[in-house]
Parts: sequence; C-alpha cells; structure tokens
Amino acid sequence: MNSSIRTIAQTLRQVFDSDYFPEGAEVVRGRPDRFEFGRCLPFLFLHLGCLGVLWVGWSWAAVTVAFLLYVIRMFAITAFYHRYFSHRTFRTSRVAQFLFAVIGNTAIQRGALWWAAVHRHHHRHSDEEEDVHSPLRKGFWWAHIGWMTSSRNFPTDYSVIPDLARYPELRFLNRFDLIVPFCFALSLLGLGYVLEHWLPRSNTSPAQIFIWGFFVSTTVLLHATLFINSLAHTFGRRRFSTGDDSRNSLLLALLTLGEGWHNNHHRFMHSARQGFYWWEIDISYYILRLFALFGIVWNLRGVPRVVYDEARGAHAVFPKTARR
Ligand SMILES: [Zn+2]
Ligand SMILES: [Zn+2]
Repeated sequence: MNSSIRTIAQTLRQVFDSDYFPEGAEVVRGRPDRFEFGRCLPFLFLHLGCLGVLWVGWSWAAVTVAFLLYVIRMFAITAFYHRYFSHRTFRTSRVAQFLFAVIGNTAIQRGALWWAAVHRHHHRHSDEEEDVHSPLRKGFWWAHIGWMTSSRNFPTDYSVIPDLARYPELRFLNRFDLIVPFCFALSLLGLGYVLEHWLPRSNTSPAQIFIWGFFVSTTVLLHATLFINSLAHTFGRRRFSTGDDSRNSLLLALLTLGEGWHNNHHRFMHSARQGFYWWEIDISYYILRLFALFGIVWNLRGVPRVVYDEARGAHAVFPKTARR
C-alpha cells in the first residue's frame, strides 16, 4: 500500500517537476532510445483536444485568435528559443529574455533551457548516430516526434547551457514547465468570456476561444516547429555542403517565420538571419531588426563575407560546419 502511494506521489511529482528523477538524470539519459506510450499522452491530449472544434464550431474571432497566437509564439520559438537561447545570435535585456521564455513556454515545447540544450546537441552531432532527431539515421517519424517520447531525451543537460542556467528565473520556468501553459489556458477562457460578454458581435464563447487558441493553434505550431527537425533535413535544396543533410525550403521558411533556410543555418548558426539574401524571406529576422530599432535587442550577428564567398563558389565542398 505504502509503496503504491509512493509510486503515485513520485509520478505526480515527475509530471510537475521536470528536474525530478528518483533514479537520477544520468541513469535516465543512459537508457536506450525507444518510443514510450506514457510520454505520448500529452501529445495525444493536445491532438484530441483539436476535435473539440466539432463541438464548439468556429468563428472569425476564434480563428483570428488562433492565427495571432501561432505567429506570436512561432516568433518566440524561432527568434528566442532558437536564435537567442540556443545560439546567442543577438543580445537582449534580462526582462525581454524572461518575457520571451514565458511566451515560448506557452507553445508546450518545454522550457527554453531544455530546448536549447537539445538543439545545441543537434548541431554538434547533426545527422550522426548521436543526433537525437535525424531523419537520415532513425527515420522521418522518429525525427519528427518519436524522439520526444523517449525518456532518455527528457532530462535537461545543464552542462551544455551554463550561460543560460545561471539565471534562476529561467531555471524555474524550465523545471516547472507546465505552470505557464496552465495559466495560458486559463487566460484563453478569460479572453473568451470577455469577447462573449463585451463584444457579442464576435459571436464566440470561452470554450471556442479555448479550443482554437489552445489546442488548434498549439498543435499546428508544434508540427510546424518539428518540421525543421524532420522535413528540413529531407526536403529542399542544399546550398552548402555542411556534412549533414540540412536543406533550404521557402515553404518551410514561410510556415516557420524563417527557419526553413536550414542549410544556411547549419553552415553558419551564429547569424541572427537565416535567409542569407533579401529574397530568402525570414520574417523573424525582420521583426528582430524592428526590435533593434527600439532597443529591445542589439548586436544582431550577421553572415561573414567568407560564407557568402562560399555560397558563390559552385558546390564547394567544405568541412562540417563549426560546431557549438
Ligand atoms: Zn538541423
Ligand atoms: Zn540551430
């Protein structure tokens, strides 16, 4: 009896505390890679929630909320989770850093520290056996979402992100990564209530705003982000011989506000821009430039001349990109 109560208490604590591993994080990280049903449940919940549209229907207000939340949160993921936290391609204030870590957290892609640690590992071992999400090594679906269900990829490897782990507020967000999504869900219900009562012409309801803003928007956002791990290593064109299978794709760049220029990014990950030319649409970079005008971010790193020279050379073969 006592042991079953302890097991339930441990499971509950593990749900809420992402740094809690009774057996030790190193032991978990040493497990073999495998698809785990228990870790699929949050994703199943997210996808099944989308079916709620059959019950609540749609309205322009709900679709607009879902779309705006997609764009805002995609920007938080691409510009901050990826280009700032993972690669430090520009600088910003501690307040903005925290704010965008919170917005990114609403995307239910876990905390910025875990995200950055996994991503730095990806660049270090891109499309090698050790890469946690290589479609080349482990197949498309593993690269897309399977890797996230494997418990060995769950602990945050703080040793590769000492520059971020020194901020207690970021560690807190990373450790208790369900608090923000929970508050986000409540806020959407509140927004739905306000729209229904104060703007009846919006023809919506709390349940409708919740289903579209939380479930639909977040599920589409999740897959669009994950496409960079799966599709951006299988579909598109290669400008640079980077030693991995990264690709450039306009379609993925439009969907992810600029992340589709993934071959460019694997060639030079230290740049704040991933579209290296004016015709390579990179909306996150345009917004960052706008932010720089207002002093919200600064020291945006560009692409060095040597990389442009390489791009001009026809199919030059280069050693694997400098790894972080
Ligand atoms: Zn990649
Ligand atoms: Zn990257």
